[in-house]
Amino acid sequence: MAREQDHMLHRGIGMTSQRTRERLIQRLYEEGISNAKVLEVIRRTPRHLFVDEALAHRAYEDTALPIGNNQTISQPYMVARMSELLLEAGPLDKVMEIGTGSGYQTAILSQLVERVFSVERIKVLQDRAKERLIDLNLRNVVFRWGDGWEGWPALAPYNGIIVTAVATDVPQALLDQLAPGGRLVIPVGSGEVQQLMLIIREEHGFSRRVLGSVRFVPLLNGPLA
Ligand code: SAH
Repeated sequence: MAREQDHMLHRGIGMTSQRTRERLIQRLYEEGISNAKVLEVIRRTPRHLFVDEALAHRAYEDTALPIGNNQTISQPYMVARMSELLLEAGPLDKVMEIGTGSGYQTAILSQLVERVFSVERIKVLQDRAKERLIDLNLRNVVFRWGDGWEGWPALAPYNGIIVTAVATDVPQALLDQLAPGGRLVIPVGSGEVQQLMLIIREEHGFSRRVLGSVRFVPLLNGPLA
């Protein structure tokens, strides 16, 4: 590993880091995350590189943290749970993510599926996320600056779609862009009342599962420079 990269990977992280990281994995396991691949990928992905240096010491707490522009990096449990739901029926090759944010969920997904197509409306967040993924040598991701309500029709269909912001209702475009058997994991609702949903494209129509209450920032409209 290049010295600079080595330095970067360890920046802001004290002697206890390895232990803190192990504790997070243990906690996710105890809270019901059972997919060993998901746990392994979270174990080896340096979440502290996805937040400001000033917050790096809190990166392995199971909590959402601010990333600027009124947005947050998702809670590790939620990242794990949503990844696990996507992968529940077997491996996936094409996955679209709506809401790149810090790029943390993107980085996790990129190590679990063949290719990730990630859409973000805030340009500066996207640019930073891109850099982080390049630094970590995660190359199977392409980024689109645009409106997640519209998905990324040119490259559809997708075997999996994950939305990391809460939608007032399920965007029709995302349903349209699901491949047969494809899975959409999405928080739906508003304010305090939000439910995580798993929607699957069946032979005729869609099946829906409600998986419990969650807390996300809203899925907004339109791209933002
Ligand atoms: N998975 C990210 C979560 C970021 S928070 C992480 O762990 O860092 C949700 C993200 O969704 C924000 O970056 C926000 O800008 C983005 N977002 C909100 N509405 C959107 C839309 N309509 N299209 C694309 N991205 C959107």
